[in-house]
Amino acid sequence: KTFAELGVREELVKACERLGWNNPSKIQAEALPYALDGKDLIGLAQTGSGKTGAFALPILQALLACVYNSEPKKGRRPDPSFFACVLSPTRELAIQIAEQFQALGADIGLRCAVLVGGIDRMQQTVALGKRPHVIVATPGRLWDHMSDTKGFSLKTLKYLVLDEADRLLNEDFEKSLTMILDEIPRNRKTYLFSATMTTKVRKLQRNPVKIEAAASK
Ligand code: AMP
Repeated sequence: KTFAELGVREELVKACERLGWNNPSKIQAEALPYALDGKDLIGLAQTGSGKTGAFALPILQALLACVYNSEPKKGRRPDPSFFACVLSPTRELAIQIAEQFQALGADIGLRCAVLVGGIDRMQQTVALGKRPHVIVATPGRLWDHMSDTKGFSLKTLKYLVLDEADRLLNEDFEKSLTMILDEIPRNRKTYLFSATMTTKVRKLQRNPVKIEAAASK
């Protein structure tokens, strides 16, 4: 099936084509129908499988729906900030994820911020002031901002993604992750991707749809 046949909106299908994504990868083909239908997902998938597209496209589509389906107030459409947050165990992966969001969201005016360690915090605080729709972060630095950047909270969050969840659940991140999870709405949707499925990983969601795809496209 094509992206359009899986239910992806025209604006986003065009963005995929621009990136040379002519057909959905296996994980995308499996995930998109459920994700676009509002289900939580748990996916066994490695980097290289196209998993970023599998969670970015449903998030961007929900963001579009949120903007277009609500009544304009005083002639202005709402501009939902802090709509989605993607957590990644490494800086490099976070940056790659953000690049894919930016590329897919370029035509729809997406604002995306990256909050990772090793990069000037002030610069990130300025980025948060622009009220991004999507945040891609490592847990430690995200928690730093949640606990002391004025005016920043994830109370409006609609989507949480835990990428490489098995690695996010190790001791290094445990403290910040627990505090982050405590601060975000329970009724958000959660997409979880992991190379392995441990009990800890499974405990993070109630009734997710399981998807599985090998690393090949
Ligand atoms: P990921 O597994 O999400 O890190 O993606 C790995 C690479 O595959 C990235 O460079 C993507 O741009 C690319 N990619 C993702 N989806 C597709 C697709 N449907 N067709 C071709 N390339 C893709």
